Amino acid sequence: IVHWPFSATQRRKLNWVQLAGHKGNFKAADEGTILKKFSEFEMQCFEKLKQDVLLSFVPEYHGVVEKDGESFLHMTDLLANFDLPNVMDCKMGVRTYLEVELGRARERPRPREDLYRKMVEVDGEGPTPEEHSQRAVTKPRYMQWRETMSSTHTLGFRIEGTKKSDGTCRTDFKKTRSKQDVMQVFADFVGGSGTITASYLSRLTEIQKALKTSEFFKRHEVIGSSLLFIHDHTGRAEVWMIDFGKTTALPEGQTLRHDVPWTEGNREDGYLWGLENLIHTLQAVGAG
Ligand code: ATP
Ligand code: MG
Ligand code: MG
Repeated sequence: IVHWPFSATQRRKLNWVQLAGHKGNFKAADEGTILKKFSEFEMQCFEKLKQDVLLSFVPEYHGVVEKDGESFLHMTDLLANFDLPNVMDCKMGVRTYLEVELGRARERPRPREDLYRKMVEVDGEGPTPEEHSQRAVTKPRYMQWRETMSSTHTLGFRIEGTKKSDGTCRTDFKKTRSKQDVMQVFADFVGGSGTITASYLSRLTEIQKALKTSEFFKRHEVIGSSLLFIHDHTGRAEVWMIDFGKTTALPEGQTLRHDVPWTEGNREDGYLWGLENLIHTLQAVGAG
């Protein structure tokens, strides 16, 4: 732990951690805020969320800004009020690609060696005998296979990464699938603290309640969005909804349940089912 006084900027540099996405997608901004590379979907979500019950669970949005010829979404840095935070990114839902992405990938499903290599890196037994002999897999095949390796399919969420206050950072959760394995990661993340676990659970329950009444949530396919867990040694613990880059509005009049299985065409994302499982998992950690 560092004791001498740091300037706000130095402090932010020490605190800032990015657990997913390309490094170049984020820039530091004015005190307590960050810039995320512009996306039309995400901008529209932030605009609509201004009028929604979910507003208190998403980073405050300060509009679009231009910097060095690029556009960014200006938002609150959720880590700013923490002292040497522990951070975890949980990606929600039973799939992490949009139906239209699957459709697009199928248009010209040519065998790809790069995806074959990525598959083998995670699981040598991933490719079928035929794929092994071609040393290639198609994109739709890779996309669907990937979700079965992690807890995305089985629990409706997966851990993307963690960073602890001691500086250790982990993003190697591609094969963390069972409830037991996920519990282990959570237990380690909260350092066995029952108080932190209880704070996280109460925040998750509030989010769950808000989601069930949210008009925004009803009318969007929420894909690739995360819950960001943050706590520090003062006992402060928060959960925030982030990343709406793939959150897509449904056609007028159409709504989703978010807690029923996905079958291609129904656009269901399993977000609420995943959240239910996440809550049960964390309850089991608290009880253990
Ligand atoms: P991907 O789609 O691959 O998940 P992305 O480029 O859409 O990545 P995000 O998922 O929004 O980016 O954010 C990446 C990481 O940056 C998060 O896991 C988190 O660690 C950090 N992060 C994002 N937004 C904030 C925020 N408002 N405050 C603090 N940290 C944030
Ligand atoms: Mg993300
Ligand atoms: Mg994203």
